[in-house]
Amino acid sequence: LASRDFHPDNTVISIKGVNIGGGELVVMGGPCAVESAEQIDEIAGLVKAAGGQVLRGGAFKPRTGPYSFQGTGVEGLIMMAEAGQKHGLLTITEVMTPEYVDICAEYADILQVGTRNMQNFDLLRKLGTCGKPVLLKRGFSATYDEFLNAAEYILAGGNTNVMLCERGIRTFETYTRNTLDLSAIPVLQQLSHLPVISDPSHGTGRRELVEPMTKASVAAGADGLIIEMHTDPDNSMTGDGVQSLFPDQFAALLQDLEKLAPLV
Ligand code: PEP
Ligand code: MN
Repeated sequence: LASRDFHPDNTVISIKGVNIGGGELVVMGGPCAVESAEQIDEIAGLVKAAGGQVLRGGAFKPRTGPYSFQGTGVEGLIMMAEAGQKHGLLTITEVMTPEYVDICAEYADILQVGTRNMQNFDLLRKLGTCGKPVLLKRGFSATYDEFLNAAEYILAGGNTNVMLCERGIRTFETYTRNTLDLSAIPVLQQLSHLPVISDPSHGTGRRELVEPMTKASVAAGADGLIIEMHTDPDNSMTGDGVQSLFPDQFAALLQDLEKLAPLV
């Protein structure tokens, strides 16, 4: 079902007037994690003012260590839904377990599957019937074939609204957090009809690389971007402050993108 042989035309995902995969660039921006109602409200205003269409923010965080901040949970979901509604943005948040799919689907417009869960097949099956669009992140060691098979699990359940997200893969290089695989963008678009989103934040792990890799992703044909932005990155509650843009950088980047591709 994910293959272009089966479905020659591009899939366009329409959510409350925003079309993803239809030729216009979609930008999802926001913090790694929803930290407080004030934080997500302020950032939502900045995302909207910069021209973004979707507010990102994790309420359930997949942390490498069990003692790290694990997210604000259902309270975070509610805070983000309110901020999205107030500022006229769609929202995307990560769901980690099948049990939480229904509640995340109640509060968010798009459900994100993180890199660590790309092959959580029970989660993928549950998302096949959740009724909301899904952004599936590529596992950091997954081949294109494994990635597309993971998408197939969601599609097989009847959910046709799946986006593929390249978020960097693990290589021998340690300077960057991951290696953003730019080739994935055209390859996935050739093999599949699903929209392809690039994540230059996790793809590099370094703030100063987000701008060039965002532009490179657009040049490679990405249908959209998911970018971390924080008002106080040095004090962010996850380690992802180092890859988060400051609000003025985020706004300047989106201005530049307007020259490269029309925003929705
Ligand atoms: C995130 O988007 O904050 C995140 C945890 O991403 P990934 O699953 O790609 O590491
Ligand atoms: Mn993050």
